[in-house]
Amino acid sequence: MAVAKPKPRPWVCGRDCPYTNARVAGQQIYTCETCPWDAQGTKGEKTVPKTISVDFDGVLHKYSKGWMDGTIYDGPMPGAKEAMAQLKVMGFDICVNTCRVGEGQAHEVRTFLRKHGITFDYVTDIKQPSFAYIDDRGLHFTDWESTLIILAARVAVANGVAA
Ligand SMILES: [Mg+2]
Repeated sequence: MAVAKPKPRPWVCGRDCPYTNARVAGQQIYTCETCPWDAQGTKGEKTVPKTISVDFDGVLHKYSKGWMDGTIYDGPMPGAKEAMAQLKVMGFDICVNTCRVGEGQAHEVRTFLRKHGITFDYVTDIKQPSFAYIDDRGLHFTDWESTLIILAARVAVANGVAA
């Protein structure tokens, strides 16, 4: 199911919020009509959850061959460095989520992120309260009927019975 992109609208906001700053930097991605600060009715005050959770494998680490032997063998996902920097401009604390459990593997994840200049605040294998979860395996939930249909289609593709 395709997700409709918000329609571009004339910029009407003069507030000094991260979205305004993003626009000044030439990278406007929200209008005030879709700005979560406005959606919360907070008139620009940062009372929305500050954390955004970003999956590691398949989102930051390219992960082109899947899990393999568990090593971090690939380079960064194209655009990941720039996107994480943008999330910082937007005012988020960046939580990197990984199923690579244990301090040893978390250390390897942090080393990869630093090596490639990817901005983050912390790495964890525990789900955190977040404004959004960015994950290559996620299904956007609206209701169970459509979720099960989307899931069945994904299973069919994985089993090679559908394209
Ligand atoms: Mg993943």
